[in-house]
Amino acid sequence: MSPQPVTSNRQTRVGIVRDERYLLHKPGHTHPEHPNRLKAVYRMLDGDFSGDLIPIDPQPATLEHLELVHTPAYVKRVLKTADHRYTSLSPDTPASAETYLASWLAVGGCVKALDRLMDRSVDAAFCLIRPPGHHALKDRAGGFCVFNNIGIAARYAMQTYGLRRILIIDFDIHHGNGIHDLFHSENEILYFSTHDPMLYPYTGNGEDVGDGAGAGYTINIPLPRELGDDEFLYLYQEIAGPVMRAYQPQLILTAAGFDAHEEDPIGRSHLSEKVFGRLARLLMEWREEIGDPPILFALEGGYSPRALAASVKEVVLALLTPVHVEDAAGMQTQQVVDMVTRTRAIHRGYGVW
Ligand SMILES: [Zn+2]
Repeated sequence: MSPQPVTSNRQTRVGIVRDERYLLHKPGHTHPEHPNRLKAVYRMLDGDFSGDLIPIDPQPATLEHLELVHTPAYVKRVLKTADHRYTSLSPDTPASAETYLASWLAVGGCVKALDRLMDRSVDAAFCLIRPPGHHALKDRAGGFCVFNNIGIAARYAMQTYGLRRILIIDFDIHHGNGIHDLFHSENEILYFSTHDPMLYPYTGNGEDVGDGAGAGYTINIPLPRELGDDEFLYLYQEIAGPVMRAYQPQLILTAAGFDAHEEDPIGRSHLSEKVFGRLARLLMEWREEIGDPPILFALEGGYSPRALAASVKEVVLALLTPVHVEDAAGMQTQQVVDMVTRTRAIHRGYGVW
């Protein structure tokens, strides 16, 4: 029998970025990154959380925000899609007439949430936005992503608030090659990603640890497809936990993709919605240990509207009601123990964690 969770009496003020204009990006009826994803999430919020959450209204990003990460030529290219019924930004990332607006607002939502976190009017924020961002490169769209929402948020936090230790956790089942490439040579941003290396964009090798000053500040953990909830949590517990304690981030940004869910039509993994809540609770617990730095979640993938809404619900519940998480140490398999050993061996010598 597992012990009963201990409920904390700490109250977390949770900000939520949502806006109907995120539904205006319409990549096509058969495209997986469909407005119905977010509609399902918003319906769930209205049904299950009315009054518990602090609304954060997004404003469109400024050119200055976008150019923290993207080239002016690329930003112009996205702007030119305005009012055209269909433009291909990349083979898998079409733009509709108002994609530019949703994309500007996706970045603007993250920037606004960051301001609210930094003025301490919220403790945690979840940006329920689209299009997603972690595959967007500085001069290119891809993987359904237009602008790199998290990448821009990180740069904005450095520039506006002078932060110098930012941890990015990416649990989307795809490797966030956009974030990875942006900060590959830097030590002021630590990128931690778990992903299926057999899926788009086929990057994120475990041996790739960053380069130059950033050597050791990229942690890529390729996942086997058959991984279960307890194994997934064990990995985070054994690696992300020590990373957080050693790095002592001033800000935690989470690329929150839910396509590792067993019902996801694109991811081929087998996680349940519960695991995302358990992971969020772990993150909140470690955050408390290191002095409560602000934590921001930004939606990435998750292509089954039902599973996405159910997974987001688990995370929001976890943010609102931190409880002690049961230790996953007793539930490990040899496979996951070997993965932890291998990751430690690769990173030994960099002295980051
Ligand atoms: Zn994904």
